[in-house]
Amino acid sequence: MARQFFVGGNFKMNPNTKAQTLALAELLNNAQLDPNTEVVIAPPSLYLIPVAEKLNKPVELAAQNAYIKTSGAFTGETSPSQLFEAGIPWVILGHSERRVLFQETSELVAQKTRAALDTQLKVILCIGETLEERESGKTVEVCEAQLKHVVAQLKPEDWKNVVIAYEPVWAIGTGKVATAAQAQETQAEVRKYLAKGVSPAVAEATRIIYGGSVTASNCKELATQPDVDGFLVGGASLKPEFVDIINARK
Ligand code: PEP
Repeated sequence: MARQFFVGGNFKMNPNTKAQTLALAELLNNAQLDPNTEVVIAPPSLYLIPVAEKLNKPVELAAQNAYIKTSGAFTGETSPSQLFEAGIPWVILGHSERRVLFQETSELVAQKTRAALDTQLKVILCIGETLEERESGKTVEVCEAQLKHVVAQLKPEDWKNVVIAYEPVWAIGTGKVATAAQAQETQAEVRKYLAKGVSPAVAEATRIIYGGSVTASNCKELATQPDVDGFLVGGASLKPEFVDIINARK
């Protein structure tokens, strides 16, 4: 069965006003979006509800993080069940900024993935290597090591609620996009790893998307690759060209 094309917009801690964030929702409301693309946007948590109220397109929302517990003394955290109750169906986990700036380990990311799925959230799970790791030929090893903990925590049926975002750290926010061949090669390896570690059926059905300096001008070529099932977009999700990326396969 064909995998539905998926485009996520990770706004990160942008924009810095509610009005600008709502304007991005309005941009999507007024755009012609490919009905075959599943679109999910992740505004800053404070703006999730206002954006949900503004959107009139079939665009879903994601939080950019969630904790492993339902409630308790965890200052500054948001629980998966609080998100679910607020009507937020998705969460981004394991983004490299959280791994690097907030010291999140692959074990913690796996626990967060388990907790989110237990709360009926769907997960955009980010993995990817640094430039040094790529240059020393460790790309696949690193991606597999990051995935290994998640594979250990999940049952085969959980994977239908997971999208894997392959995001080479060297491509995030740098303007240095992976070539279509580099994205395809790594994503095919990730799929092989799922086939081996989970099952061939899960590998075939799971969406593996690419993230890292995707723009309107490079998205079409990347989208032709058989193992590139969509994109996770940072900077360009804050611009009108996000619509062109959503429509990359149109
Ligand atoms: C991201 O942060 O997930 C990302 C891919 O960012 P950018 O598109 O800006 O490289």
